[in-house]
Amino acid sequence: MTGKAKPKKHTAKEIAAKVDAATTNRGGGKAGLADRSGQEKGGHAKFECPLCKVTAPDLKSMQIHHDARHPKIPFEESKLTDLHASSAVETSKARPGVRGSFKK
Ligand SMILES: [Zn+2]
Repeated sequence: MTGKAKPKKHTAKEIAAKVDAATTNRGGGKAGLADRSGQEKGGHAKFECPLCKVTAPDLKSMQIHHDARHPKIPFEESKLTDLHASSAVETSKARPGVRGSFKK
């Protein structure tokens, strides 16, 4: 059951803007904290950087963030924090097929 949702196409500019917003909000007080946590946005941000806790809405954005912020550290998808998975119980939204997406 993969490929249920097609990945949305984003322009490079759009992604860069999102990543920039995510990174520049870092340490920006309560607003920045809420933005980073992703909680205030109802889980809008899916991934959390394990290194600096910046959040990104999708894997591609996180990868761009990683390349920009942690160029010396290899990008490892498995080390990212999936906020959607951890907050799945909170939303109590039925998400069949999500389990088992971890490859390792
Ligand atoms: Zn980071």
